[in-house]
Amino acid sequence: MNVPEIFGENVFNLQVMQDKLPKEVFKSLKKTIDEGTPLESGVANVIANAMKDWAVEKGATHYTHWFQPMTGITAEKHDSFISPTKDGKVIMEFSGKELVVGESDASSFPNGGMRATFEARGYTAWDPTSFAFIKDGTLCIPTAFLSYGGEVLDKKTPLLKSMSVLNVQALRILRLFGNTRAKRVYPTVGAEQEYFLIDRSMYDARRDLVFSGRTLFGAKPPKGQEMEDHYFGPIKRRVSEFMKDLDVELWKLGIFAKTRHNEVAPSQHELAPVFTITNIASDQNQLIMETMKKVAQKHGLYCLLHEKPFEGINGSGKHNNWSLSTDNGVNLLDPGSTPAENGQFMLFLVAVIKAVDEYQDLLRLSVASAGNDHRLGGNEAPPAIVSVYLGDELQEIVDALENNVPYSGKGKGVMKLGVDTLPELPKDTTDRNRTSPFAFTGNKFEFRMLGSTFSIAGPNIMLNTIVADSLRQFADELEGAEDFNGALHSLVVRELKAHKRILFNGNNYSEEWTKEAKRRGLLNLPSCADALPYFAAKKNIELFERNKVFTEREVRSRMEIMLDNYSKVLTVEALTMIEMGRKDIYPAVESYVLSLCKTMEHKAAANLSVASEKAVIEKLSGANEKMYFASVELEKLIGQTKNIGNAEKSARFFADKVIPVMQTMRAYADEMELNTAKSFWPFPTYGDILFSVS
Ligand code: ADP
Ligand code: MG
Repeated sequence: MNVPEIFGENVFNLQVMQDKLPKEVFKSLKKTIDEGTPLESGVANVIANAMKDWAVEKGATHYTHWFQPMTGITAEKHDSFISPTKDGKVIMEFSGKELVVGESDASSFPNGGMRATFEARGYTAWDPTSFAFIKDGTLCIPTAFLSYGGEVLDKKTPLLKSMSVLNVQALRILRLFGNTRAKRVYPTVGAEQEYFLIDRSMYDARRDLVFSGRTLFGAKPPKGQEMEDHYFGPIKRRVSEFMKDLDVELWKLGIFAKTRHNEVAPSQHELAPVFTITNIASDQNQLIMETMKKVAQKHGLYCLLHEKPFEGINGSGKHNNWSLSTDNGVNLLDPGSTPAENGQFMLFLVAVIKAVDEYQDLLRLSVASAGNDHRLGGNEAPPAIVSVYLGDELQEIVDALENNVPYSGKGKGVMKLGVDTLPELPKDTTDRNRTSPFAFTGNKFEFRMLGSTFSIAGPNIMLNTIVADSLRQFADELEGAEDFNGALHSLVVRELKAHKRILFNGNNYSEEWTKEAKRRGLLNLPSCADALPYFAAKKNIELFERNKVFTEREVRSRMEIMLDNYSKVLTVEALTMIEMGRKDIYPAVESYVLSLCKTMEHKAAANLSVASEKAVIEKLSGANEKMYFASVELEKLIGQTKNIGNAEKSARFFADKVIPVMQTMRAYADEMELNTAKSFWPFPTYGDILFSVS
């Protein structure tokens, strides 16, 4: 296989554009892509036609605007290129107008009360900075999704807005350091994606997996992940074939699939791409998840992207590696080796620290979902408390700066920013703190709280906006300074002092940290019901309005969508539990008990001991009865949720009242699983599922 040859073969990328477009049109489009300027009128038709010819040549028959509504997944509606001719035949056509805007029914997507059904029209608008591509014979055009009144209904538009404000503020900082060459600054992201692969037959046999993407019942298997023999272990044949196929499909889509390996839990794996500009990384991550599911199907497998498919076994996350880059490819979070670079690095570093401290709530809630609630706070994922890890070397420098003392690596004198150089920071990955939710890893930050199913757009909107806001304040202050280096130094020291409570290098999984974080006044928001209401806090609405990323209305609608989603997911899970409990587990246990009773009769007649049968029957009958009444209680509670009528109160009710009953019901079922003959148990067990792929 010739990888460079197939790479990007299904993408209308710069090279294809240069080949297929007239010189002037290409130049105009390139300017739009590079500088974010609006597309010049007149060129859209030419581009559309070239795109269509290219797509048709590659076997495409349809096109679609491909967008990212608030469902967290992507949406598409296919139109064929055909256009009737007078003689009853068709030609393939695609106009500039069709490329640039599309219509869509906004009311059928989550909109948080923003669209009344009578004004339901929404439209999609081409994002020329993200390349069009062909997927399953359809030309997909990445677009933003808005209402006719201009309200944002998707995840892409605010992401682009947040990138734009970050660009403006970061450029102001670069100019202060005498950088006049950089034309743009953009955030870069590499999102590591975790997933489970199980045999398709296991998935089909479990309605909890089908309806909710995770197991709602399941006792701990004799072997889980305790042997630690899966992480980076040899990859099994079927998995390896899947991974090969997946890489090829992703490469064709121009996605830089780079690393693949087994993860900690049995059946768990990871894919990491090479990082790229954030909006592209976001589009690509959506395609990665979609392609994983599709390729798995071809191999008789099922790809589980849920954050916690199996209780007691590690869940899946997504590490969002984030940095800032200039258009010349300079990484602004790379410490560099000259005094000026160091001052600049420290300023960007402090901007991030300040942003994370002031907006802990936004980062936390950007990763809040019913699924991710199972991870954050468990002993595998970062806790629900946001903190920043700098590593020992950088922490030492930061401490020395703050306290105006020499740091050990330097020996002489205290460091002056913009005057002295920083020591070389190790980029060694081995001794990294894996427990931190937000870790500096040498030349980037790794935000580790994202759940595996998440669109990365949400968390990156937050990151970009909050850092842009820090940079704005810094630029405002420094632009007027007479002694720049002096002002820079005192700003950095002041901000480090103000925000040092967010810095933590220790073990984030420990109980001491929870207590220590509380003493420091850091937020600890364990569930969606705790975290999501912070979205509409006054300081947050002001932040988004100041940076023109969301209006207050958009913030409130988004918060409502996320809260609603939490309640909806839990409703589906509860109803699935009730159904599986009553239709599968209850009758199965009753049958087994009946068979034991019959055995007992026969054995008693033969004067044999029936002590074990009796013990098992008692245990099972008791648990089955309790599970049944828990299901009755659960049903009653779900009925009550219908009348709450307020998204925040409803989420609270689910967290406080519904979840505990779900847990009770599950505990009885899992105990019964351990005491019921295999031939009677109605669906595959954890052991069956987790070791189903050879
Ligand atoms: P790990 O965290 O597994 O040790 P790596 O250091 O290889 O892994 O990086 C993980 C991810 O970080 C990769 O997707 C990589 O492309 C991405 N990454 C590396 N540098 C940057 C950067 N400057 N900006 C954003 N992401 C980056
Ligand atoms: Mg990582």
